[in-house]
Amino acid sequence: MRLSRSFLPVLKESPSDAQIVSHKLMLQAGLVRQTAAGIYAWLPLGLRVLNKIADIVREEQDKAGACELLMPTLQSAELWRQSGRYDAYGPEMLRIKDRHEREMLYGPTNEEMITALFRDDVKSYRDLPRTLYHVQWKFRDEVRPRFGVMRGREFLMKDAYSFDLDEAGARLSYYTQLLAYLRTFQRLGIRAVPMKAASGPIGGDLSHEFIVLAPTGESEVFYDSRFEEIDWSKTDIDYSDEAGLHGLFDQVSSTYAATDETHDEAKWSEVPSERQRTGRGIEVGHIFYFGDKYSAAMGLKVSGKDGSNVTPMMGSYGIGVSRLVGAIIEASHDDKGIVWPEAVAPFKVGLVTMRGDDEASVAVAEDLYRQLTAASVETLYDDRDERGGVKLGGMDLMGLPWQLVVGPRGVAAGMVELKDRRTGEKFEIPIDAAVARLS
Ligand code: ATP
Ligand code: MG
Repeated sequence: MRLSRSFLPVLKESPSDAQIVSHKLMLQAGLVRQTAAGIYAWLPLGLRVLNKIADIVREEQDKAGACELLMPTLQSAELWRQSGRYDAYGPEMLRIKDRHEREMLYGPTNEEMITALFRDDVKSYRDLPRTLYHVQWKFRDEVRPRFGVMRGREFLMKDAYSFDLDEAGARLSYYTQLLAYLRTFQRLGIRAVPMKAASGPIGGDLSHEFIVLAPTGESEVFYDSRFEEIDWSKTDIDYSDEAGLHGLFDQVSSTYAATDETHDEAKWSEVPSERQRTGRGIEVGHIFYFGDKYSAAMGLKVSGKDGSNVTPMMGSYGIGVSRLVGAIIEASHDDKGIVWPEAVAPFKVGLVTMRGDDEASVAVAEDLYRQLTAASVETLYDDRDERGGVKLGGMDLMGLPWQLVVGPRGVAAGMVELKDRRTGEKFEIPIDAAVARLS
């Protein structure tokens, strides 16, 4: 993408109305703009990150055997009356009437809708187990929307729902999602620790919150540093191996990790002190097993092997896709700006001409841009007639993993400069080696 053709409004000053660093950086680097309280427009740079996160989430869901569909944002109140949650949900639900005075709502979550869809088409034990998911906007009329996209009112969530014939099957579906989450977050370039959670208004008895460490996090957390020892993105999980799934789950759940809500001092004291980690954290995912809570209330039944009726056991599994954009920045930035993990960076390379008025540099940069684009290396090319220092500052702020800098002196010697954003290391490389180096 050429900067001269993009919509990338970078702010010179750090916005004073944002309280936390990720929100400041997202506004300053032109990722989002607030259009109403807790509601954001995603500008091109922010949207690229959001889409990359969603794609990784999808890949890991698909690998774990979940199946994607798409449910609408608007739902009828009638559905929620079937589960009894229409009255129970309270003021966080945005309630709307259509022109026929029918009561509608903007979905805060989708247990009711997925249960109804499944109920209307599934009749037999042969159709189970299933895990279905979608990536869709939610609306919750939060009392205090704040911290930008971290606690918005409209936000993007991946929510999956599992249906099993019995509790043993449902637990296996739960373990599968838990392990898929460990891989997902690690691929996103962050470490999210699964912590036993109180299950809250959705109900149920088995629940974990996935928490990313960051000083601005809303919850206090305690965990065993063993969680830092495994790279799940490099751990292949065989989702068809039941015994293996049980083993991995036991390993995870026997390693201490809790939020202040579930913290247990006696168990904590058994963790050797050199392995005790405490801090604050941001919830980026939450999974629940809730048995027949919705299936029973909404009359979902299938015929069992022996012909009797069986009420499926369910779980639900959320990931805060839009919140993750903020959470990743909280976990990965420095005093110059964002430092994107490569997997979610909006572009891999920022290409900069130091002197927009130097014909030889511009010719080299144009040629590099053409070649990088042809090699499918995602490149943001700052082709504006701006001072070099301003362009480099902008690139640092936007946090692309690599900067390729073209200046008159280097070009005369047949060289360009490659900078690693994370380490700040700079390398002089021959112009004709640059594309191969980056692809
Ligand atoms: P929180 O405790 O942060 O209010 P929650 O427990 O109400 O979240 P869940 O119902 O578990 O949220 O939703 C699943 C995921 O959706 C959360 O783990 C979080 O990452 C994300 N999420 C929830 N509420 C918001 C919000 N207001 N803005 C952005 N993301 C959100
Ligand atoms: Mg939650």
